[in-house]
This record gives sequence, structure tokens and C-alpha cells, in this order.
Amino acid sequence: MSSSYAARSRYYKTEVDGQRLHPETQMMSYGYDPSLSEGALKPPVFHTSTFVFNNAAEGKAFFEVAYGKREKDADEDPGLIYSRINNPNLEVLEDRLRLWDSAEKGLSFASGMAAISTSLLAYTRPGDVVLYSEPIYGGTEYLLRNILPEFGVTGVGFTTWNEERALSIAVEEAKAIVAQSGGKIASIFVETPANPTNCLIDLQECRQIAEKIESTLGHRPLLMVDNTFLGPLWQRPLDHGADIVIYSLTKYVGGHSDLVAGGVVGSTELLTPIAGFRTILGTMCDPQTGWMILRSLETLQLRMTRSCENAKRIAFFLLDHPMVTSVGHLDHIDKADPAYQVYKRQCLGAGSTFAFDIKGGEGEAFKVLDALKVIKLAVSLGGTESLMEHPFTMTHADVPDDVKKRLGVSESMLRISVGIENADDLIADLRQALRTIES
Ligand SMILES: *Cc1c(COP(=O)(O)O)cnc(C)c1O
Repeated sequence: MSSSYAARSRYYKTEVDGQRLHPETQMMSYGYDPSLSEGALKPPVFHTSTFVFNNAAEGKAFFEVAYGKREKDADEDPGLIYSRINNPNLEVLEDRLRLWDSAEKGLSFASGMAAISTSLLAYTRPGDVVLYSEPIYGGTEYLLRNILPEFGVTGVGFTTWNEERALSIAVEEAKAIVAQSGGKIASIFVETPANPTNCLIDLQECRQIAEKIESTLGHRPLLMVDNTFLGPLWQRPLDHGADIVIYSLTKYVGGHSDLVAGGVVGSTELLTPIAGFRTILGTMCDPQTGWMILRSLETLQLRMTRSCENAKRIAFFLLDHPMVTSVGHLDHIDKADPAYQVYKRQCLGAGSTFAFDIKGGEGEAFKVLDALKVIKLAVSLGGTESLMEHPFTMTHADVPDDVKKRLGVSESMLRISVGIENADDLIADLRQALRTIES
């Protein structure tokens, strides 16, 4: 049984009686054929490093296709070879993952950072520039600021809140760098909404700028979007001009704070070089984790919907609270703010991770955190349980103080990732914790 599991599976139904099946329905069956596994309703975990070939010619044929030595025939299965190249659990996972974004292909990785670094390495070469939105996830920032420069790749940051660092200005800086280096502007890497400020980046505008760069420099930078915060339910970047969508599956998709994994979805053409790099760098997901994510995907829509509703209620509670000075929940963007139009066009929901400011500073923020009884004091986000943290001294501790000030990350800011508990319980916990700083 060594030909590719996914390719032999007959479970690729996409509609029934004229009804197009939704991803939340597909998560229970798509891409897995029980008859290939003794009728098991759920896919077994394929804890195996390697796969047995039926004969030598088959082994040769599988390698020819896997290493791109020839195109596979129309009726040929890409065979299972070795779990760094492919594995049934990952094939099923990747088929299901891509459905949420209506993408042609999906890839799974050992972590969100494995997905980000493998994708950037696949598409950048010495002399190239990567334009990236700020603030961005700390690991991504470190990669762009400290590691990729060692390989001759320059990261140039841009923001939406500081005109001196607007994308149009960053593009001019990037053009000057590539004019010297002979490289290209390889990609525009965007994280929207930004963490923890929930600043939004307009993806359509990024795409237009990428096309403008193509018309002058002859190469269109790929628009790569880290969709961890709102995706895959509340934001579909491929609908707004993105080329490649990246996830930390550790967060909402895994959703139970019990695994670390990453994903990339997009066209087969654009993902093929990333898959090639993944095979050699060895940044793929492992079968056990892949199986756990399959389980998580079955409840993804339920969990994200519930946590989004809870977050809405908590945001209203905080807005009314005398000790809270501002709430960064996306539903409460001022209608006069240009970000409001971006939110309406680009997002399908506000998600459930946001920051708010309280009266006071670090002392008061810590007092609130230390008083929590239901909500846990921890970084990370997107799990079933609610978590709170202090970005200034925790997730964003590495960001220089003056940059934090510019970003609006202050000592009085707290970030909450709202889970799927009863919202009244969460509000009661926040109420008693905030009481400790009321004078
Ligand atoms: C957590 C996170 C990452 C990194 O993911 P890991 O799975 O921890 O490697 C990348 N981007 C965003 C937005 C994240 O929140």
C-alpha cells in the first residue's frame, strides 16, 4: 500500500444534491477513505518513517515524480516514499486545511515559524528585499532583522500608522537597495491584524503596489499573509490578492494549546518550491501532530464562532468599565478611521484576541493579571481557554521601548485571548480582577 493515500482516496465529495459542501462539513471526511484502513472511521496515525515499494520500478517512478525529474502521468499516483517527503496523515491534513481558504494546495509544518522561514527561504536569494508590515510576530521579526541579513536578504519594515514608514516610502527604500545589489523585491510579507494593536493592513492596496513594482522592475513581489489571528474563518486573504497564506496552527486551528504546528496554503505552482525546501530542510509536521490537528479541524468553526461571540461581549463590558481607557477590539474601530473600511471589506469577523488599556501602568496591569481566577496568565492565543498577558514585558519584551511607544504598546496594556468558556464567567473574573485597582 505505498501509492499516495490522498491520491487513492475516493472521498473527495464537494457537493451533495446540488448543495456545495461547507468546510465544517468536509472536516469530518474529506480526503480520507476508510476502505484503505480496514474501515476505520478515523484515519489511523501512520507512525512510520518509510514506506515499502511493491517493486524497484515503482520506487524509481515515485522518486522521479517526487524530485521533479519528470511530470507525473495524468493517472499516476505520487507514491508514498518517506515521512519527510509525504505521509498519509499529512496528506489528509493538507487537503482539509486548504478548503477553508478555497486554496488549491496546502502544506503542513513543524511550527508557524517553520512555515514562515521555509516560505521566505524558498522565495528569497542574496541581494533581495522583503517588505514587511510592523508590528509583526517576534519570531518573524527576528528572522527578517537578524537571520536573513546574514544571507544577504534585507527586510524593510512599513507601517500604516506612521507616514514616514508608509509602504510607498518603504518601496522606494527597497528599490534603492535592489538597484545596488542586483536583487529583486521578493515579497511583501504582511501580518494583519497586527499583534497586539489590531492595526489592519489593506491587502488590496499591497497587491496593487506589488503590481506597480512589477511594471517598473519586471518582477512582482509575492504577497505573503500571516493569517494566524483571524484565519481561516474571519479573513480569507486569497480573496483580496494574497499569493500565499501562512498559519501558526498552534493557535486557533490547533485550538487546544497542546501542540505546535504551521501551515501554508495557496496555488500548487507557488507552493511547489516551498514543498521542495521543506523536504530538504526537514520542516514538515509529524504524523501524530497532524492527526491531532485533524481532530481540531472538526470543531474549528464552532470554537472560533463561540470565542468570537465571547470576545464581543467582553469588549462591551470593558468599554463601559471605569478603569479601562481604550479597547482595541475590531468592532469598535471609529467609523471615520480609514481602517474601518478595510475592516468591512477584508474581515468577516473580529476574532477573539485583542488588547485594552487600563488606568495606571505596569503595577496596575500586574495587579489585574495576578488577581485573575478563571482566565490564565500566559502568552499564546487561540485556545479553548482564555489567556491574558502584558505585551510590554512579555510577548513584546524584545521590542525596543521607543518602538513600543510608537506602536502604542504601553505599560498599561493587557492582551486577552478569549476562549470558549461561558462569557458571564469570564466577565465576572475580569470584574473582580479590575476591582483590585479601583480606588
Ligand atoms: C504564534 C505565531 C507565529 C509563530 O508560530 P509558532 O507555531 O509558535 O512557530 C507566527 N505568527 C503569528 C501571528 C503568531 O501568533
